Amino acid sequence: MPVLQKRMNKDTFGEVLARVSARLAGWKSCVLSMAGRLTLTKSVLSSIPVHSMSSVMLPQSTLSSLDKISRSFLWGSSVEKKKQHLLSWKRVCRPKREGGLGIRSSKDMNLALVVKVGWRLLQDEHSLWARVVRKKYKLGDLHDRTWLIPKSTWSALWRGVARGLKEVIWPGHRWVVGDGEQIQFWLDSWLSDRPLIHSATGELPGNAQLLLAKDMWREGMGWDFTRIGPFLPENLKLELMAVVLDHVIGATDRISWKGSADGEFSVSSAYRLITRDAQPRQDMASFFDRIWHVVAPERVRLFLWLTSHQVLMTNVERKRCHLCDSEICTVCKGGFETILHTLRDCPAMAGIWERIVPRHMRQSFFQSSLLVWLYDNIQASVIVGDIPWFTTFAIAVWWGWKWRCGNVFGENQKCRDRAPAAEWFKLNTDGASQGNPGLATAGGVLRDGDGRWCSGFALNIGRCSAPLAELWGVYYGLMMAWEKQIPRLVLEVDLEVVVGFLMKGIQNSHPLSFLVRLCHGFLSKDWLVRVTHVFHEANRLADGLANHAFSLPLGFHLFDFVPPIIGVDPMGR
Ligand SMILES: [Zn+2]
Repeated sequence: MPVLQKRMNKDTFGEVLARVSARLAGWKSCVLSMAGRLTLTKSVLSSIPVHSMSSVMLPQSTLSSLDKISRSFLWGSSVEKKKQHLLSWKRVCRPKREGGLGIRSSKDMNLALVVKVGWRLLQDEHSLWARVVRKKYKLGDLHDRTWLIPKSTWSALWRGVARGLKEVIWPGHRWVVGDGEQIQFWLDSWLSDRPLIHSATGELPGNAQLLLAKDMWREGMGWDFTRIGPFLPENLKLELMAVVLDHVIGATDRISWKGSADGEFSVSSAYRLITRDAQPRQDMASFFDRIWHVVAPERVRLFLWLTSHQVLMTNVERKRCHLCDSEICTVCKGGFETILHTLRDCPAMAGIWERIVPRHMRQSFFQSSLLVWLYDNIQASVIVGDIPWFTTFAIAVWWGWKWRCGNVFGENQKCRDRAPAAEWFKLNTDGASQGNPGLATAGGVLRDGDGRWCSGFALNIGRCSAPLAELWGVYYGLMMAWEKQIPRLVLEVDLEVVVGFLMKGIQNSHPLSFLVRLCHGFLSKDWLVRVTHVFHEANRLADGLANHAFSLPLGFHLFDFVPPIIGVDPMGR
């Protein structure tokens, strides 16, 4: 943490701002797609300021400036040219399943990081640091909150921590019962996420509120229902009976974190708690989830996301903002240019849809309202000519919008020289292990659409399990293909469980999740990757490379040309 001698003001953290600006300004925002700008905003925001933010609350003005820099960059504004921000920063900063882009606002992230310090302070009974700070600020019992009254002697660190304790930890903690010496039976959250007093039937006797859990417990008898019974509803009585106090093994009452299933504190769950809405919104989670699961390049998914928020700058919208004179469609001149007109009903698009929409979907296709239309098409499980319908649909609407913008702004001529549609490259990867776990290797090969060798690798890992070896193969294979700037990739893997991890994700607690997450990092980049399962026999070349790796030194070995491995035909037959 920065050593602070003087009082903080906005200059103290000027350096953080300067670094964030410099990192983002290094990129010409206009040459990056919105998808590229989103990735960059997230990575810069999450890397540079976190260090300063995790020890102290930055001044409001610094936080606002941080958010302002990111916001402008995301929407493509530069010093020379202001771009319209199509959605408020608050909405952009929501989690993806709540309709945002999952960017974290600096203000809320700062608080979440500082809360972590407060949580450690409460939990950590042994470190010198925690003991010193607790003593200095007289932070003892969570129930006695006199230490929350601000004093002029407070350091910047403690001011932030005290705020975190008050605003986040207090509402975000609950107790795990041990010996009942600390839990206030009626006032604390311990049996459920709410204090029992909120469920009490009838008025509690005056002094009852301060009773501790141990006061309600009769050793050898259980809970004292003569004192509890009259005030507790049946269901809670039953729940109470399932809990016991434990004086025997010396367990003490502990606080645990409500925001996660296992009671462990995490910055991301604190962030969720801080940004939670007081009033629950209409639940659109499955709608937004679908958008981010459509198999298409990130920029296409971002376009679907903008469409779902109905913020495309159609002529109707541009006229409203006095950016043009007419709300009539530039292409057909036959109607108001609304979003649905541009993407579906304009004769130029309708003609295309007529040809590609599967017959059984055609009837409802042209009748539904915008959001229903989007949802129906991105969640349809229809496959048309080997390609999921949602992919075709997403690319078609995105392409339709590009084409429309080209017409409106007169840029379509420029597209003529473009290279023909890119082909699908194929990546085969495989892992091999001698025992499970045992000495392990992986290999992979990248070939073009005609099966010609582009690149291959062999990896000598050391010792690990078979699925882990397979995943390392996938990871390095994806990295190799990404470095080669392959636009579309079919990834063939022969271990079904690994295909499952890549397609459906993995529990965070799973021991392989760290590597699956890294692989997902590649899958979510701005390219098209199809993951498929093949039988081991079809993966011979990758298998050959993996076996070859046993004879190589530890580490990664790249082959730009076909390596002379005996018995393997470069075409993989
Ligand atoms: Zn039209």
